[in-house]
Amino acid sequence: MKIVLIGPPGAGKGVYAQYFRDKYCIPHISTGDIFREEIAKNTELGRRIRSYVEQGLLVPDEITIDVIRKRLSQPDTVSGFILDGFPRTLNQAKALDEITSIDAAVHLEVSEEIAIRRLSGRVICPVCGRVYNLYYEPKPKIDEQCDYDGAKLVRRKDDEPEVIRQRYRVFYETFTPIINYYKDTNRLIEVNADKPIKEVAPLLERILVENKVLKLKPCRNISP
Ligand code: ADP
Ligand code: AMP
Repeated sequence: MKIVLIGPPGAGKGVYAQYFRDKYCIPHISTGDIFREEIAKNTELGRRIRSYVEQGLLVPDEITIDVIRKRLSQPDTVSGFILDGFPRTLNQAKALDEITSIDAAVHLEVSEEIAIRRLSGRVICPVCGRVYNLYYEPKPKIDEQCDYDGAKLVRRKDDEPEVIRQRYRVFYETFTPIINYYKDTNRLIEVNADKPIKEVAPLLERILVENKVLKLKPCRNISP
């Protein structure tokens, strides 16, 4: 199963990608996570991209495509992967098709009002990248601590209201050509992601099975 998740900030891309990763043992590849890690480690790449990420602007295509090309050349991606946050431009979508064959692009539709409310409560684990929410499920079992490794949960710097608004503007600037690209190649799947995770995750799974995109057997017994 080789899919991309498309949706505005707060749609739930990270949440569903992590669910499929844990249940079907396929990699979750998030360009945002890769960039945040490079910034945290202060690598050369991290220094080149920091200002784009902190302002909510897109990292230039040539850098982003290069990062994805390298990641998709790793052996763990052979039987499938879930891309979260890539592609974000038509250029990236076309480059991705030259790197590998994508089975489907899932558009997680969500109202801006709901997504922004979610982002105001988003906290993440700086160690394993798991996503939690202070107002919605999944809430951490112990306040501000990751359920898996106990690390103190943090807010993303770009989840400040001003930067969220900028990220929304940027998202919708390139959204239509990307959606049309996948629609025109019969790979677009639309899912209403306004509902709670417990409803959306099984719906998404069912739609992927019905479309013959998800053929893998679970490697763990996990529910959303
Ligand atoms: P994205 O990767 O699309 O920006 P995330 O997966 O990080 O979004 O989700 C944003 C925040 O909203 C997280 O804190 C997540 O726990 C929460 N969230 C995601 N989907 C839902 C949902 N269907 N209902 C309630 N909260 C959600
Ligand atoms: P995300 O975690 O997906 O919300 O991404 C966080 C930030 O990383 C974005 O606001 C961009 O600055 C950058 N970024 C992530 N993915 C991409 C991409 N595909 N193209 C360009 N910039 C990206």
